[in-house]
Amino acid sequence: TESEMKETIVLYPSPGMGHLVSIVELGKLFLRHDFAVSVITVSSTYTTGASSATTSFISRMSSAHPSLSFHRLPAVSLPHNPSPHHEAHSFNLLRFSNPHLLSLLSSLSKSSSIRALVVDFFCTIAMDVAAELSIPCYIFFPSSGASLATFLHLPVLHTKITASFKDLGDTPLHFPGLPLIPAADMPLPFLDREDDAYKGFLVNFDRLPNSDGIIVNTFESLESRPLQAIADGLVVPGRKVPPVYCVGPMITGQAESRHECLNWLDRKPPGSVVFLCFGSLGVFSAKQLQEIAVGLERSGQSFLWVVRNPPAATTAAVVGGVESVKLTEAPTEPELEALLPEGFLERTVENGLVVKSWAPQAEVLLHAAVGAFVTHCGWNSVLEAVVGGVPMAAWPLYAEQRLNRVMLVEMGLAVEMRGYKSGLVAAEEVEEKVRGLFEADWGRQLRKTMEGVRLAAEAALTDGGSSTVAINELLAKWKAGNH
Ligand code: UDP
Repeated sequence: TESEMKETIVLYPSPGMGHLVSIVELGKLFLRHDFAVSVITVSSTYTTGASSATTSFISRMSSAHPSLSFHRLPAVSLPHNPSPHHEAHSFNLLRFSNPHLLSLLSSLSKSSSIRALVVDFFCTIAMDVAAELSIPCYIFFPSSGASLATFLHLPVLHTKITASFKDLGDTPLHFPGLPLIPAADMPLPFLDREDDAYKGFLVNFDRLPNSDGIIVNTFESLESRPLQAIADGLVVPGRKVPPVYCVGPMITGQAESRHECLNWLDRKPPGSVVFLCFGSLGVFSAKQLQEIAVGLERSGQSFLWVVRNPPAATTAAVVGGVESVKLTEAPTEPELEALLPEGFLERTVENGLVVKSWAPQAEVLLHAAVGAFVTHCGWNSVLEAVVGGVPMAAWPLYAEQRLNRVMLVEMGLAVEMRGYKSGLVAAEEVEEKVRGLFEADWGRQLRKTMEGVRLAAEAALTDGGSSTVAINELLAKWKAGNH
């Protein structure tokens, strides 16, 4: 009977390890409140099956959490699509997967009481399935409230202009609740309005307001302006926008084993090290790596730097509108001696550590020795910096990171690495910004502002804090079964 069935929340992330990890983090929150959580993932002919990282993540999570289960939809084959943006393929994949989602959800609902389907913001097509089964459907938005306001407003802006953003250069765009955004800082797949990725996003964003609620990994006091603009109905005039639940900052948990770089940090004085890391996909050309190395060495600052192999010229598409930055799923291990300037590793052995490919970033940013962060401005990275109270140098690469850069600079949490716009950040700028983060007046000011924001994040998560209240409201709704 229904009363014996476990109350279940079903999560449906769009393709990609990053989306899976962040929605599972949200799922853990529901697990702690005694819901069962089922995660449904898609598969297709264009992804090469689950990567080994995904498979090991899933098996680690399932064994750690008995009430967390994973289900994979059957593969679908996709029509040829000329768009260079992977998002265009994701939208197709999700559309073709809808019938499979319907049959899986129908069968799950026989053995569990599904209280909500939570889909990430690429997957609004799944709202059709939820509606057919009369399951409430919520959006999980893993980026900032400012990006949410931008995305919600995009269909409105679209009707007011006829040109593609790529043809507007630095023309300032007005989004309610946001500072003016140069058109060139729009996410890359939005730049060409004739592209299928743009069209897919447009349809998708237009449907966001039809959901039962939008869950955002942010907290109210961090982004009160854009969040208020959404709540006041200014962002999508004439349409009702569902409640926005700001439940963050949620950051990913600790790794199982302690990484050697944390032992290295233990030996450094508090607030003395700059950390450089560029998300799960950020990679640089060999030339850019050389510039960073020279700048770091000249700055004289202690550094912890995560270095990836430059992409092979033939394997990946250029992203971020920046020539030196490319996307690759599985970078090979870098040959540091060959990539970095001659003698660099020996000369910096005292005050620098270069880590190949991956460091436990969330833990690094919480370490007392870390005093500054050069980041690609991915939203999870930003939140990890906030929780660690670490001021940033913003070097956006792909996705909505240029937009995040605008906001971070305006909030006084980051200094901009200007060179990203021209495709190469010169050694001189690396040196100047890294040194300034520790020594300049503007660096001290960023640190002070960041400390205030860190405390505000802590407050949001206490009993009675804004994020705790939002979570409880959402869960109470689901428990009561009214939506
Ligand atoms: N990350 C990490 N080590 C690395 C690179 C990335 O732990 O060497 C983590 C980082 O802590 C963050 C996530 O991967 O939680 C990246 O998410 P973000 O939203 O910042 O950027 P994305 O990878 O989605 O571009």
